[in-house]
Amino acid sequence: MSRMFVPGPVDVADEILQAQAAPMLPHRSKEFEAIYRRASEKSQQLFYTQYRVFLTASSGTGLQEAAIRNFVHKRVLSVVNGAFADRWYEVAVSNGKDVEKLAFEWDTPASPERIADAVREGGFEALTVVHNETSTGLQNPVKEIVEAVHAVSPDTFVFVDAVSSLGGAKIEMDAWGIDMLLTSSQKCLALPPGLALGAVTDRAMEKAKSVENRGWYFDLVRMEKHRLKDSSPATPVMPLIYALDLQLDRIFAEGLDNRFARHSAMAKRVQEWAEAHDLSMYAPEGYRSQTVTTIKNERNINVSELNTFLKQREMRIAGGYGQLKDKTFRIAHMGEIQMEDIEKLLAAMEEFLKK
Ligand code: PLP
Repeated sequence: MSRMFVPGPVDVADEILQAQAAPMLPHRSKEFEAIYRRASEKSQQLFYTQYRVFLTASSGTGLQEAAIRNFVHKRVLSVVNGAFADRWYEVAVSNGKDVEKLAFEWDTPASPERIADAVREGGFEALTVVHNETSTGLQNPVKEIVEAVHAVSPDTFVFVDAVSSLGGAKIEMDAWGIDMLLTSSQKCLALPPGLALGAVTDRAMEKAKSVENRGWYFDLVRMEKHRLKDSSPATPVMPLIYALDLQLDRIFAEGLDNRFARHSAMAKRVQEWAEAHDLSMYAPEGYRSQTVTTIKNERNINVSELNTFLKQREMRIAGGYGQLKDKTFRIAHMGEIQMEDIEKLLAAMEEFLKK
């Protein structure tokens, strides 16, 4: 079986692929509404939330845009220490908001204290932050960030992108005080791409009613009216809802804590292997992702040759992303990947390095 150690789209289990092939139903039928409701209620457990989870026919970026359009009149702070955080900043700018960028070096975790200082001075309605930067393999201290922000400004919403970590790392939306938490299907949930999931608090939904020009497709106030009837304003991405429904059962059968522990153990193994082979991680210790490891290419490994070698063995890894393209490579350990897959990959990489 082929294995992709890339940070999405990831390998999808056969039974999940098969689940998508179930016959279509009218989306406003009782049969489909029952599936929709089940999938969205089960998703709440994954988000550790009592609030609603929207399921949108889009990738995660769609919900980055929805956060900005629905919950911000004007002022927003974008915390940026990686490529996807920068995208969220651009999304806010391109939607005409008054956005301030608080930038950190890409190999540095976002500082809760500095963010709180900016919030104290800035009068921001909300801030955007990425939990797990897929470009750098860095995990930001989101819990501490929300705490610091709410200590100085309880009304400021914190929006969190967990596109490459939700389902692979524990993120407790309600306990941490996050107002919108979003993810994509094609990463740790190990589903095909095309579905995004976003959980939103009541207070954010209340505010949305007063925000103008929310648009139509991602108008969450409109979506909420339909969601309460187990439906969506536009046609849902039905095959992926079937797949989500089944995949959540598989995830809960593994156990969320077991799943997080599996991801964390694989991350540790990859880090140890890298260090034993004179390679170091891009992200500092204590802030390393448990779903994707970004390794500095200090040995000038030819990553495209390495991937050709790996592909002959039905595996592949990812190159660097954005400004880190030629400086790093990435090994993702998310979704269906198991420790024995990691061992197989590392053995093959070792063989390649010896050549
Ligand atoms: N945020 C992060 C952290 C990501 O890794 C990605 C994609 O890789 C995105 C956002 C964009 O997600 P999507 O491609 O699902 O729109």
